[in-house]
Amino acid sequence: MKLTTKILIGLVAGVILGLVLGGAPQVAVTYIAPFGTLFLNLIRMIIVPLVLSSLVVGAASMGDLKKLGRVGGKTIVFYLATTAVAVIIGLILGNVFKPGAGLLLLEGVTVEARQAPPLVETLLNIIPSNPLKALVDASMLQIISFAIFIGIGITSIGEKGRPLLSFFDSLAEVMYKLTALIMNLAPYGVFALITPVVAQNGPSVLLPLGKVVIAVYVGVVIHSLLVYSSIVKLVANMNPLKFFKGISPAATVAFSTASSAGTLPVTIKSVKENLGVSNSVASFVLPLGATINMDGTALYQGICALFVAQIYGIDLTIAQQVSIVLTATLASIGTAGVPGAGFIMLTMVLTSVGLPLEGSALIAGIDRILDMARTTVNVVGDGAVAVAIAATEGELKDIEVKVGSK
Ligand code: ASP
Repeated sequence: MKLTTKILIGLVAGVILGLVLGGAPQVAVTYIAPFGTLFLNLIRMIIVPLVLSSLVVGAASMGDLKKLGRVGGKTIVFYLATTAVAVIIGLILGNVFKPGAGLLLLEGVTVEARQAPPLVETLLNIIPSNPLKALVDASMLQIISFAIFIGIGITSIGEKGRPLLSFFDSLAEVMYKLTALIMNLAPYGVFALITPVVAQNGPSVLLPLGKVVIAVYVGVVIHSLLVYSSIVKLVANMNPLKFFKGISPAATVAFSTASSAGTLPVTIKSVKENLGVSNSVASFVLPLGATINMDGTALYQGICALFVAQIYGIDLTIAQQVSIVLTATLASIGTAGVPGAGFIMLTMVLTSVGLPLEGSALIAGIDRILDMARTTVNVVGDGAVAVAIAATEGELKDIEVKVGSK
Protein backbone atom coordinates (compact mmCIF):
# COMPACT_ATOMS: atom_id res chain seq x y z
CA MET A 1 0.00 0.00 0.00
CA LYS A 2 1.19 3.55 -0.74
CA LEU A 3 2.48 5.63 2.12
CA THR A 4 -0.02 8.46 1.51
CA THR A 5 -2.91 6.00 1.67
CA LYS A 6 -1.53 4.64 4.94
CA ILE A 7 -1.21 8.17 6.37
CA LEU A 8 -4.82 8.93 5.40
CA ILE A 9 -5.98 5.71 7.05
CA GLY A 10 -4.07 6.76 10.18
CA LEU A 11 -5.81 10.13 10.09
CA VAL A 12 -9.32 8.70 9.66
CA ALA A 13 -8.73 6.00 12.28
CA GLY A 14 -7.49 8.70 14.68
CA VAL A 15 -10.61 10.80 14.13
CA ILE A 16 -12.87 7.79 14.73
CA LEU A 17 -11.05 6.70 17.88
CA GLY A 18 -11.02 10.33 19.06
CA LEU A 19 -14.81 10.49 18.73
CA VAL A 20 -15.16 7.16 20.56
CA LEU A 21 -12.93 8.40 23.38
CA GLY A 22 -14.76 11.73 23.51
CA GLY A 23 -16.23 10.85 26.91
CA ALA A 24 -12.83 10.02 28.34
CA PRO A 25 -10.30 12.32 26.66
CA GLN A 26 -7.80 11.65 29.44
CA VAL A 27 -7.28 8.13 28.10
CA ALA A 28 -6.26 9.52 24.72
CA VAL A 29 -4.04 12.16 26.29
CA THR A 30 -2.27 9.73 28.61
CA TYR A 31 -1.83 6.68 26.42
CA ILE A 32 -1.90 7.85 22.82
CA ALA A 33 -0.60 11.43 22.76
CA PRO A 34 2.98 10.50 23.81
CA PHE A 35 3.45 8.56 20.56
CA GLY A 36 2.40 11.65 18.65
CA THR A 37 4.88 13.75 20.58
CA LEU A 38 7.58 11.21 19.79
CA PHE A 39 6.84 11.49 16.07
CA LEU A 40 6.75 15.27 16.28
CA ASN A 41 10.08 15.38 18.10
CA LEU A 42 11.63 13.19 15.41
CA ILE A 43 10.58 15.70 12.77
CA ARG A 44 11.53 18.69 14.91
CA MET A 45 14.98 17.19 15.39
CA ILE A 46 15.63 17.81 11.71
CA ILE A 47 14.31 21.35 11.32
CA VAL A 48 17.23 23.55 12.39
CA PRO A 49 20.00 21.66 10.57
CA LEU A 50 17.72 21.29 7.55
CA VAL A 51 16.75 24.96 7.27
CA LEU A 52 20.35 26.08 7.71
CA SER A 53 21.87 23.61 5.27
CA SER A 54 19.17 23.72 2.62
CA LEU A 55 19.03 27.51 2.54
CA VAL A 56 22.81 27.81 2.30
CA VAL A 57 22.74 25.35 -0.61
CA GLY A 58 19.70 27.09 -2.11
CA ALA A 59 21.26 30.55 -1.91
CA ALA A 60 24.71 29.41 -3.03
CA SER A 61 23.45 27.27 -5.89
CA MET A 62 21.73 30.24 -7.52
CA GLY A 63 25.18 30.70 -9.02
CA ASP A 64 25.25 34.47 -9.00
CA LEU A 65 23.94 37.19 -6.76
CA LYS A 66 21.77 38.61 -9.51
CA LYS A 67 19.76 35.41 -9.73
CA LEU A 68 19.55 35.20 -5.95
CA GLY A 69 18.12 38.71 -5.81
CA ARG A 70 15.68 37.98 -8.63
CA VAL A 71 14.40 34.72 -7.17
CA GLY A 72 14.29 36.22 -3.67
CA GLY A 73 12.32 39.23 -4.90
CA LYS A 74 9.83 37.13 -6.87
CA THR A 75 9.35 34.78 -3.93
CA ILE A 76 8.55 37.60 -1.53
CA VAL A 77 6.12 39.23 -3.98
CA PHE A 78 4.26 35.92 -4.46
CA TYR A 79 4.17 35.29 -0.73
CA LEU A 80 2.85 38.74 0.14
CA ALA A 81 0.28 38.79 -2.66
CA THR A 82 -1.17 35.37 -1.83
CA THR A 83 -1.34 36.28 1.85
CA ALA A 84 -3.17 39.55 1.18
CA VAL A 85 -5.72 37.68 -0.98
CA ALA A 86 -6.17 35.21 1.88
CA VAL A 87 -7.07 37.92 4.40
CA ILE A 88 -9.50 39.43 1.91
CA ILE A 89 -11.19 36.04 1.45
CA GLY A 90 -11.30 35.77 5.25
CA LEU A 91 -12.94 39.18 5.59
CA ILE A 92 -15.51 38.41 2.89
CA LEU A 93 -16.43 35.14 4.60
CA GLY A 94 -16.59 36.88 7.96
CA ASN A 95 -19.04 39.39 6.50
CA VAL A 96 -21.10 36.69 4.79
CA PHE A 97 -21.19 34.00 7.50
CA LYS A 98 -21.36 36.47 10.41
CA PRO A 99 -19.91 33.82 12.76
CA GLY A 100 -20.25 36.03 15.84
CA ALA A 101 -23.76 37.31 15.27
CA GLY A 102 -26.13 36.32 18.05
CA LEU A 103 -23.39 35.03 20.32
CA LEU A 104 -23.39 36.52 23.78
CA LEU A 105 -20.04 36.97 25.40
CA LEU A 106 -19.87 35.43 28.84
CA GLU A 107 -19.53 37.97 31.61
CA GLY A 108 -16.16 38.27 33.21
CA VAL A 109 -14.11 36.50 30.56
CA THR A 110 -10.63 37.89 30.59
CA VAL A 111 -7.72 37.26 28.34
CA GLU A 112 -4.13 37.74 29.19
CA ALA A 113 -3.02 40.20 26.54
CA ARG A 114 -0.03 38.43 25.12
CA GLN A 115 1.16 41.25 22.97
CA ALA A 116 2.98 40.45 19.79
CA PRO A 117 6.41 42.05 19.58
CA PRO A 118 6.35 45.36 17.71
CA LEU A 119 7.01 45.04 14.00
CA VAL A 120 10.17 47.17 14.04
CA GLU A 121 11.66 44.88 16.63
CA THR A 122 10.80 41.83 14.54
CA LEU A 123 12.45 43.40 11.50
CA LEU A 124 15.60 44.45 13.35
CA ASN A 125 15.86 41.03 14.92
CA ILE A 126 16.09 39.35 11.55
CA ILE A 127 19.85 39.82 11.65
CA PRO A 128 21.20 37.66 14.47
CA SER A 129 23.92 39.30 16.54
CA ASN A 130 24.89 35.79 17.58
CA PRO A 131 24.10 33.20 14.91
CA LEU A 132 24.94 30.26 17.14
CA LYS A 133 22.40 31.45 19.66
CA ALA A 134 19.88 31.73 16.83
CA LEU A 135 20.51 28.08 15.99
CA VAL A 136 20.20 26.99 19.61
CA ASP A 137 16.98 28.96 20.09
CA ALA A 138 15.62 27.84 16.70
CA SER A 139 14.89 31.46 15.75
CA MET A 140 13.85 30.78 12.20
CA LEU A 141 13.99 34.26 10.67
CA GLN A 142 17.49 34.72 12.08
CA ILE A 143 18.64 31.33 10.84
CA ILE A 144 17.26 32.19 7.41
CA SER A 145 19.14 35.48 7.16
CA PHE A 146 22.36 33.91 8.44
CA ALA A 147 22.05 31.07 5.91
CA ILE A 148 21.45 33.49 3.05
CA PHE A 149 24.51 35.49 4.09
CA ILE A 150 26.64 32.33 4.12
CA GLY A 151 25.24 31.47 0.68
CA ILE A 152 26.17 34.93 -0.61
CA GLY A 153 29.66 34.58 0.87
CA ILE A 154 30.17 31.17 -0.73
CA THR A 155 29.02 32.46 -4.11
CA SER A 156 31.30 35.49 -3.91
CA ILE A 157 34.58 33.70 -3.16
CA GLY A 158 34.21 31.03 -5.86
CA GLU A 159 36.60 28.08 -5.69
CA LYS A 160 37.54 28.56 -2.05
CA GLY A 161 33.90 28.30 -0.97
CA ARG A 162 33.47 24.84 -2.50
CA PRO A 163 34.38 22.73 0.57
CA LEU A 164 31.90 24.60 2.76
CA LEU A 165 29.19 24.22 0.13
CA SER A 166 29.85 20.47 -0.11
CA PHE A 167 29.60 20.25 3.65
CA PHE A 168 26.18 21.91 3.74
CA ASP A 169 25.08 19.97 0.69
CA SER A 170 25.96 16.73 2.39
CA LEU A 171 24.28 17.82 5.64
CA ALA A 172 21.10 18.67 3.70
CA GLU A 173 21.13 15.29 1.93
CA VAL A 174 21.49 13.48 5.25
CA MET A 175 18.52 15.42 6.64
CA TYR A 176 16.43 14.54 3.56
CA LYS A 177 17.31 10.88 4.06
CA LEU A 178 16.29 11.05 7.73
CA THR A 179 13.02 12.68 6.67
CA ALA A 180 12.29 9.76 4.38
CA LEU A 181 12.98 7.29 7.19
CA ILE A 182 10.86 9.17 9.71
CA MET A 183 8.00 9.46 7.21
CA ASN A 184 7.60 5.68 7.36
CA LEU A 185 6.30 6.25 10.88
CA ALA A 186 3.91 8.98 9.73
CA PRO A 187 0.74 6.82 9.62
CA TYR A 188 1.18 5.97 13.31
CA GLY A 189 2.38 9.46 14.23
CA VAL A 190 -0.58 11.12 12.53
CA PHE A 191 -2.96 8.67 14.23
CA ALA A 192 -1.48 9.41 17.67
CA LEU A 193 -1.54 13.17 17.09
CA ILE A 194 -5.10 13.39 15.88
CA THR A 195 -6.83 11.07 18.41
CA PRO A 196 -6.34 13.28 21.52
CA VAL A 197 -7.22 16.44 19.55
CA VAL A 198 -10.57 14.99 18.47
CA ALA A 199 -11.21 13.43 21.90
CA GLN A 200 -10.67 16.80 23.58
CA ASN A 201 -12.45 18.94 21.00
CA GLY A 202 -15.39 16.69 20.22
CA PRO A 203 -18.74 17.92 18.92
CA SER A 204 -19.76 19.41 22.26
CA VAL A 205 -16.86 21.86 22.22
CA LEU A 206 -17.19 22.64 18.53
CA LEU A 207 -20.92 23.15 18.11
CA PRO A 208 -21.38 26.50 19.86
CA LEU A 209 -18.68 28.00 17.66
CA GLY A 210 -19.57 25.91 14.65
CA LYS A 211 -19.93 28.93 12.38
CA VAL A 212 -16.34 30.07 12.96
CA VAL A 213 -15.08 26.58 12.25
CA ILE A 214 -17.17 26.31 9.11
CA ALA A 215 -16.11 29.77 7.92
CA VAL A 216 -12.41 28.97 8.38
CA TYR A 217 -12.70 25.56 6.69
CA VAL A 218 -14.74 26.95 3.79
CA GLY A 219 -12.21 29.79 3.51
CA VAL A 220 -9.19 27.55 3.28
CA VAL A 221 -10.86 25.39 0.64
CA ILE A 222 -11.85 28.43 -1.44
CA HIS A 223 -8.39 29.95 -1.13
CA SER A 224 -6.68 26.69 -2.12
CA LEU A 225 -8.94 26.02 -5.06
CA LEU A 226 -9.02 29.58 -6.33
CA VAL A 227 -5.55 30.93 -5.68
CA TYR A 228 -3.29 27.88 -5.78
CA SER A 229 -5.04 26.22 -8.72
CA SER A 230 -4.71 29.46 -10.68
CA ILE A 231 -1.06 29.95 -9.76
CA VAL A 232 0.06 26.46 -10.74
CA LYS A 233 -2.08 26.47 -13.87
CA LEU A 234 -1.36 29.98 -15.13
CA VAL A 235 2.26 30.39 -14.10
CA ALA A 236 3.52 26.81 -14.32
CA ASN A 237 0.96 25.28 -16.68
CA MET A 238 0.59 22.41 -14.21
CA ASN A 239 -2.67 20.53 -13.79
CA PRO A 240 -4.00 21.61 -10.36
CA LEU A 241 -5.01 18.02 -9.62
CA LYS A 242 -1.43 16.93 -10.11
CA PHE A 243 -0.35 19.71 -7.79
CA PHE A 244 -2.75 18.80 -4.98
CA LYS A 245 -1.91 15.13 -5.33
CA GLY A 246 1.81 15.83 -5.21
CA ILE A 247 1.61 18.11 -2.18
CA SER A 248 -0.79 15.82 -0.29
CA PRO A 249 1.83 14.08 1.92
CA ALA A 250 2.92 17.48 3.23
CA ALA A 251 -0.69 18.62 3.60
CA THR A 252 -1.59 15.58 5.72
CA VAL A 253 1.39 16.05 8.00
CA ALA A 254 0.60 19.77 8.29
CA PHE A 255 -3.01 19.01 9.19
CA SER A 256 -2.10 16.63 11.98
CA THR A 257 0.92 18.47 13.41
CA ALA A 258 -0.37 22.06 13.04
CA SER A 259 3.21 23.16 12.45
CA SER A 260 4.54 24.34 9.11
CA ALA A 261 8.10 24.38 10.43
CA GLY A 262 7.61 20.79 11.57
CA THR A 263 6.25 19.84 8.17
CA LEU A 264 9.09 21.50 6.24
CA PRO A 265 11.18 18.36 5.68
CA VAL A 266 8.14 16.64 4.16
CA THR A 267 7.22 19.72 2.12
CA ILE A 268 10.67 19.83 0.55
CA LYS A 269 10.53 16.10 -0.20
CA SER A 270 7.05 16.28 -1.77
CA VAL A 271 7.78 19.34 -3.88
CA LYS A 272 11.03 17.96 -5.26
CA GLU A 273 10.04 14.36 -5.79
CA ASN A 274 6.37 14.68 -6.72
CA LEU A 275 6.20 18.04 -8.43
CA GLY A 276 9.61 18.26 -10.09
CA VAL A 277 10.83 21.50 -8.51
CA SER A 278 14.62 21.84 -8.71
CA ASN A 279 16.74 21.42 -5.60
CA SER A 280 17.99 24.99 -5.66
CA VAL A 281 14.49 26.54 -5.86
CA ALA A 282 12.94 24.14 -3.32
CA SER A 283 15.71 24.58 -0.80
CA PHE A 284 15.49 28.35 -1.04
CA VAL A 285 11.76 29.03 -1.41
CA LEU A 286 10.36 26.47 1.04
CA PRO A 287 12.32 27.18 4.25
CA LEU A 288 11.56 30.85 3.66
CA GLY A 289 7.87 30.07 3.13
CA ALA A 290 7.57 27.86 6.20
CA THR A 291 8.56 30.91 8.21
CA ILE A 292 7.09 33.92 6.47
CA ASN A 293 4.27 32.70 4.22
CA MET A 294 1.13 31.96 6.19
CA ASP A 295 -1.95 32.35 4.03
CA GLY A 296 -4.10 30.16 6.25
CA THR A 297 -3.11 32.12 9.33
CA ALA A 298 -3.91 35.43 7.65
CA LEU A 299 -7.30 34.15 6.45
CA TYR A 300 -8.12 32.93 9.96
CA GLN A 301 -7.15 36.30 11.42
CA GLY A 302 -9.50 38.06 9.01
CA ILE A 303 -12.42 35.83 10.01
CA CYS A 304 -11.63 36.03 13.72
CA ALA A 305 -11.34 39.82 13.70
CA LEU A 306 -14.85 40.05 12.26
CA PHE A 307 -16.06 37.40 14.69
CA VAL A 308 -14.83 39.46 17.64
CA ALA A 309 -16.30 42.65 16.20
CA GLN A 310 -19.66 40.88 15.76
CA ILE A 311 -19.90 39.48 19.28
CA TYR A 312 -19.37 42.99 20.60
CA GLY A 313 -21.77 44.45 18.06
CA ILE A 314 -19.05 46.66 16.56
CA ASP A 315 -19.33 47.62 12.90
CA LEU A 316 -15.95 47.73 11.23
CA THR A 317 -15.48 50.45 8.63
CA ILE A 318 -13.86 49.74 5.28
CA ALA A 319 -10.76 51.62 6.47
CA GLN A 320 -10.56 49.36 9.49
CA GLN A 321 -10.93 46.29 7.29
CA VAL A 322 -8.11 47.53 5.05
CA SER A 323 -6.03 47.96 8.16
CA ILE A 324 -6.81 44.34 9.05
CA VAL A 325 -5.51 43.24 5.64
CA LEU A 326 -2.23 45.06 6.22
CA THR A 327 -1.75 44.01 9.82
CA ALA A 328 -2.75 40.40 9.25
CA THR A 329 -0.37 40.14 6.29
CA LEU A 330 2.49 41.49 8.38
CA ALA A 331 1.45 39.52 11.46
CA SER A 332 1.50 36.30 9.48
CA ILE A 333 5.13 36.99 8.50
CA GLY A 334 6.11 37.28 12.13
CA THR A 335 4.17 34.16 13.08
CA ALA A 336 6.36 31.18 13.92
CA GLY A 337 5.46 27.93 12.16
CA VAL A 338 4.49 26.21 15.38
CA PRO A 339 1.11 25.24 16.83
CA GLY A 340 -0.91 28.12 18.21
CA ALA A 341 1.39 30.92 17.04
CA GLY A 342 -1.30 32.48 14.86
CA PHE A 343 -3.59 32.85 17.86
CA ILE A 344 -1.00 34.94 19.67
CA MET A 345 -0.55 37.14 16.61
CA LEU A 346 -4.31 37.57 16.44
CA THR A 347 -4.01 39.92 19.41
CA MET A 348 -1.86 42.20 17.26
CA VAL A 349 -4.53 42.29 14.58
CA LEU A 350 -7.31 42.96 17.10
CA THR A 351 -5.30 45.73 18.73
CA SER A 352 -4.63 47.40 15.38
CA VAL A 353 -8.31 48.14 14.92
CA GLY A 354 -9.11 48.64 18.57
CA LEU A 355 -11.11 45.45 19.09
CA PRO A 356 -11.31 44.02 22.62
CA LEU A 357 -8.75 41.25 23.12
CA GLU A 358 -11.15 39.41 25.43
CA GLY A 359 -13.12 38.42 22.37
CA SER A 360 -10.42 35.99 21.39
CA ALA A 361 -11.06 33.97 24.57
CA LEU A 362 -13.90 32.15 22.85
CA ILE A 363 -11.63 31.20 20.00
CA ALA A 364 -8.90 29.87 22.28
CA GLY A 365 -11.00 26.80 23.08
CA ILE A 366 -11.26 25.66 19.49
CA ASP A 367 -8.02 27.07 18.19
CA ARG A 368 -6.37 23.72 17.60
CA ILE A 369 -9.09 22.67 15.16
CA LEU A 370 -8.66 25.94 13.27
CA ASP A 371 -4.88 25.65 13.47
CA MET A 372 -4.93 22.33 11.62
CA ALA A 373 -6.79 23.88 8.70
CA ARG A 374 -4.73 27.06 8.51
CA THR A 375 -1.42 25.22 8.78
CA THR A 376 -2.42 22.96 5.88
CA VAL A 377 -3.02 26.02 3.72
CA ASN A 378 0.20 27.63 4.93
CA VAL A 379 2.11 24.60 3.68
CA VAL A 380 0.18 24.07 0.43
CA GLY A 381 0.72 27.78 -0.34
CA ASP A 382 4.49 27.39 0.03
CA GLY A 383 4.34 24.48 -2.39
CA ALA A 384 2.32 26.43 -4.98
CA VAL A 385 4.76 29.33 -4.89
CA ALA A 386 7.74 26.95 -5.17
CA VAL A 387 6.18 25.45 -8.30
CA ALA A 388 5.55 28.92 -9.76
CA ILE A 389 9.07 30.19 -9.06
CA ALA A 390 10.62 27.01 -10.48
CA ALA A 391 8.55 27.40 -13.65
CA THR A 392 9.58 31.03 -14.18
CA GLU A 393 13.21 30.04 -13.71
CA GLY A 394 12.92 27.10 -16.13
CA GLU A 395 13.64 24.72 -13.26
CA LEU A 396 10.45 22.68 -13.20
CA LYS A 397 10.78 19.12 -14.40
CA ASP A 398 7.69 17.54 -15.87
CA ILE A 399 7.42 14.35 -13.87
CA GLU A 400 4.72 11.82 -13.18
CA VAL A 401 3.32 12.18 -9.69
CA LYS A 402 4.19 9.01 -7.89
CA VAL A 403 2.90 9.92 -4.48
CA GLY A 404 3.83 7.61 -1.71
CA SER A 405 5.63 5.02 -3.80
CA LYS A 406 8.65 3.95 -1.89
N1 ASP B 1 0.43 26.64 13.28
C1 ASP B 1 0.64 27.51 12.17
C2 ASP B 1 1.78 27.01 11.34
O1 ASP B 1 2.67 26.38 11.81
C3 ASP B 1 0.89 28.91 12.58
C4 ASP B 1 -0.36 29.43 13.20
O2 ASP B 1 -0.58 29.16 14.38
O3 ASP B 1 -1.14 30.09 12.51
O4 ASP B 1 1.80 27.22 10.17
